[in-house]
Amino acid sequence: MMPRILVVDDSDLSRRLIGRLLIDAGWEVLTACDGAEGAVTALQEQPEVVVTDLEMPVMDGFQLARLLKSDPASADIPVLLMTSYADAASRFWGRETGANEYLLKSEVQEKLADAVRSLRESSPLDPNRSVVDAPRTPFEVLARIGRHLDARLQEAVLVNRLLQRGVEAEDLEAAAHVVLDIVSELVDSWALALLVVEPAGSVIFLRSDLPASSAESRALVESMRSALEVPPDEVVEQVVWPAGSLSAVVPSELEGQAVDSAADPDSIHLSLRGGRALLTMLPRKPLRADGRERRLLEALKSQLTLVLDNARLEQRLRELSMVDGLTRLLNRRTVHRRLVEELERSRRYDQPLSLMLCDLDHFKNINDTHGHLAGDAVLKVVADLFRAHARSVDIVGRFGGEEFVLILPNVQKAQAIQAAHRLLTAMCSDRVVTRGGVEISFTASFGVASVEELQTVTTDALFALADSRLYEAKNAGRSRVVPSDLG
Ligand code: GH3
Ligand code: MG
Ligand code: MG
Repeated sequence: MMPRILVVDDSDLSRRLIGRLLIDAGWEVLTACDGAEGAVTALQEQPEVVVTDLEMPVMDGFQLARLLKSDPASADIPVLLMTSYADAASRFWGRETGANEYLLKSEVQEKLADAVRSLRESSPLDPNRSVVDAPRTPFEVLARIGRHLDARLQEAVLVNRLLQRGVEAEDLEAAAHVVLDIVSELVDSWALALLVVEPAGSVIFLRSDLPASSAESRALVESMRSALEVPPDEVVEQVVWPAGSLSAVVPSELEGQAVDSAADPDSIHLSLRGGRALLTMLPRKPLRADGRERRLLEALKSQLTLVLDNARLEQRLRELSMVDGLTRLLNRRTVHRRLVEELERSRRYDQPLSLMLCDLDHFKNINDTHGHLAGDAVLKVVADLFRAHARSVDIVGRFGGEEFVLILPNVQKAQAIQAAHRLLTAMCSDRVVTRGGVEISFTASFGVASVEELQTVTTDALFALADSRLYEAKNAGRSRVVPSDLG
């Protein structure tokens, strides 16, 4: 059978001229007089290429291209748009409809046969494909256009809502909230999860009323980890939110049994951020047979990615402005802010709080003797010691040059002094080895103060007390903690 090309044009003369060109090139030609007739013919006859005029009554070339491209029954058929003028807006709109090629009418004589040939070659139709539900009348075509328009409108509304809320998300968690919210409006799910892979640590956001320890949740998390190839030993932080607007109840047929969502044909996975995030939905009922939800999800993909990346970037910038570049500890300003918060908490719950200041001894000598880079290496090692000794609720900062600070919430004076002694001991036994193989040892002086010692508790008063003790430690010969006894 000869390959068939559909020519859609409202002008008799054009149809004949173009038809001639194509027949001469060895193809069979079908014709239609406007977009609507073209759509019916294309859907019913499944030509190998559609060549269409742009300006036509009833339905123009843009609308025809858009319809054919958005209908699964014709999406694979290449569309070539012909126009008498080529302004930028038409070219843009032509591309937006999904048309594969754009030709000026003045170029048709010369270029059409080649263009059709290369379209056939670049996207050959499967000769065995069968089309199930081609519309048979123009009326059915119009009904289909209505459905496509409705889907496009829904997509536009969702994208708009996603972006509006998404730009306000200041960190990954807030962005994940938005993403899961929007998706929950699209697919009626009993569990939704978003796994975000980050070098600094991956996080899974799970929205479901099942506890994180339930078999269903664990299977879901496991399947997502393996889908994104998160190494089995890498800890993934879990944030679990109640289902909220989701349907809270697990479908009864699933209750009690672990859901292997990777194998579960009903679960939906959407890879985002170029494979660095995965969205998984467990829908309550099978999705619509016409694939509308899936297409909407696909259409939202790049915006979902944008929202997540944007939030991550904001978070990163904020974190950068909070940490010290050399040691990655919190900087002075941030430590100060955190101390204000922690003091407020300690006051509210009437809990103890201690502050530890630490200044390296004769650090200038280390710089002078071994060079500034060696000095930097010592600062990093000390920062690591602080990190290693801090509990998860402690706040560690670099307060300036070779001064460190540790805020110890819910810790009394005696324990804080003990903690300082442990740090000093660890420092005294640590060494930094230079490139030349020289071992550098170092010590530090510590000043400790606690809120229980103060008449009026303010950040300034607490700092002043710890600082005066640090000064005492220096004067008394360095490499020590003041106060030193635990009593
Ligand atoms: P003390 O025992 O009295 O604390 O003596 P010190 O030498 O440690 O104190 P001093 O305040 O005189 O010197 C601190 C030195 O720390 C001077 C400064 O060049 C150095 N320093 C500050 N920031 C950095 C840094 O980021 N890297 C390096 N390598 N040195 C730094
Ligand atoms: Mg010093
Ligand atoms: Mg100093």
